[in-house]
Amino acid sequence: MSATRTIKKIKIDVDKCNGCRACEVICSAFHAQPRYSSVNPARARIRVIRDPLADIFVPVYAGEYTDAECAGRDQYTIDGKTYEECAFCRSVCPSRDLFKEPDSGLPLKCDMCESDPTLTEPLCVQWCLADALVYEERTEEVEKAPSAEDVDVGLEALANEHGWANVLDAIARMSVKTGRES
Ligand code: SF4
Ligand code: SF4
Repeated sequence: MSATRTIKKIKIDVDKCNGCRACEVICSAFHAQPRYSSVNPARARIRVIRDPLADIFVPVYAGEYTDAECAGRDQYTIDGKTYEECAFCRSVCPSRDLFKEPDSGLPLKCDMCESDPTLTEPLCVQWCLADALVYEERTEEVEKAPSAEDVDVGLEALANEHGWANVLDAIARMSVKTGRES
């Protein structure tokens, strides 16, 4: 049995990013309480790692929260400039303050702006006039676990063909066998 799910993706073209930070501004405004009541990039779910002198700007999206630091560290050197450890990591973790609500310290995560179903594209993409952020969607087939109703229908069909006694016998035999093997 299969169903479909939608995969949402934002493609980031670092070469097109000019460091304007409009993405941070609109994301923080969208997530303000009440919505659009304030702007504070520290609340944004996207942050632009900037090095204006080297003309390098790398947008990074807030990802999963983890309560454990990595055992190791990553450090990138791009065009001769070495960036801080963990600079391009999406995780919200205890080793740095990035992607944490400034007042409460609670973790922030990009939610693709899903709380507003009228949006055709995430707001950071709409506000990125340099086209460094491009939104794409695709659907994928996924296996769907049978529901309780599906199981009822299947058992009823078997009982109609073989009789309830035989079906119950078979279930009992299988559960004993499964118990032995587990
Ligand atoms: S809005 Fe676009 S160009 Fe501006 S900082 Fe964000 S990703 Fe870069
Ligand atoms: S997709 Fe929405 S929530 Fe995620 S960073 Fe962009 S504006 Fe913020």
